[in-house]
Amino acid sequence: MKIHEYQAKEILRKYNVPTPKGQVAFSVDEAVSVAKDVVKGNIWVVKAQIHAGGRGKGGGVKLARSLKEVREVASQILGMTLVTHQTGPEGRLVKRLLVEQGVNIDKELYVGITLDRTTFRNVFMASTEGGMEIEKVAEESPEKIIKVFIDPLIGLQAHEARELAFKLGLTGLQHKNAVSFFLALYKAYAAIDASLAEINPLVVTKEGEVIALDAKMNFDDNALYRIKDILEYRDLDEEDPLEIEASKFNLNYIKLDGNVGCMVNGAGLAMGTMDIIKLAGGEPANFLDVGGSANKETVANGFKIILSDPNVKAILINIFGGIVRCDRVAQGVIDAAKEISVKLPIVVRLEGTNAPEARKLLAASGLTFEVASSLADAAQKVTAVLRA
Ligand code: ADP
Ligand code: MG
Repeated sequence: MKIHEYQAKEILRKYNVPTPKGQVAFSVDEAVSVAKDVVKGNIWVVKAQIHAGGRGKGGGVKLARSLKEVREVASQILGMTLVTHQTGPEGRLVKRLLVEQGVNIDKELYVGITLDRTTFRNVFMASTEGGMEIEKVAEESPEKIIKVFIDPLIGLQAHEARELAFKLGLTGLQHKNAVSFFLALYKAYAAIDASLAEINPLVVTKEGEVIALDAKMNFDDNALYRIKDILEYRDLDEEDPLEIEASKFNLNYIKLDGNVGCMVNGAGLAMGTMDIIKLAGGEPANFLDVGGSANKETVANGFKIILSDPNVKAILINIFGGIVRCDRVAQGVIDAAKEISVKLPIVVRLEGTNAPEARKLLAASGLTFEVASSLADAAQKVTAVLRA
């Protein structure tokens, strides 16, 4: 799960990580009153709140030097369709703003913490090349990213934080404040079970302050049950409507751009199915894992989700029957297809326990399923249907 910058900053403040003074606004009037009464001062930054980065370059972050300018830039940004390198060409509609204090920047640095799956440790990354796209830095000059791998039992140590600050070239007050910043940031990341905490840019000011100017936090959906407070930050406007619908049915669904709807049990088999569709010259419309119990209900829900995507022109059902027997799955497919009268061509491949009985049921159903004998055959059949 992703959250907005203003929400990540709310969390950071609780853990004493310095951030600019600021507050969310849902309307232009609110933006002006936040600037006047909450943030105060005489220089503000108005920032689009969407679940994507690169907002600055896309025109979603603007400076204002008077309340009149706050009103102007807030009306420009709120309601705009913001296109950045992370939103795709269709962009995102801006529905929330963050109005915050304008900070007098001396240097823009980068810090990020995430899990490194190779070492089984959290890795603390830092770079002097903050502000711009860090992915580019990682690709073109990886030596500019400093890394510290953190012992999970003892957490980030003060000497490690000092070493990071030293390697970033910080001295004096900037160094001292950076060390407390890093330790506080790691505490926040660990305490709220985040999968990513990224501050880009981390700025140092001439006065020696070290402040999180931007903040991005991600959470592992499978950990949300133990960090329920974070769930309140979920913004459904930022998620794909079909994926939200699927999550209500406990289906693991990810929408893709192709036209072959896929219904599969097991994530690995779903990945394999998508690969083989592509190999046969087709494009999968989705990833869908209906889980271990492929019964009539899950299959019907799966159909509904797949059919809500207007791009879908054919459906491939690929179920491996282990504990759940193929004949029961076949009956589920038949019942569901009749119940919601699926009109699209359906290719079914069922393998495993009671597969021959399942094929008989499908053949006798009166519905026009194409029954495939193998996974390769299924992919050939479904792409042939589309070519016809
Ligand atoms: P994004 O990463 O989506 O482009 P950022 O929050 O990093 O958005 O903002 C982009 C740039 O805008 C920053 O690199 C910084 O130069 C400037 N900026 C953002 N917030 C402030 C602020 N409060 N004060 C001054 N400059 C800011
Ligand atoms: Mg940024």
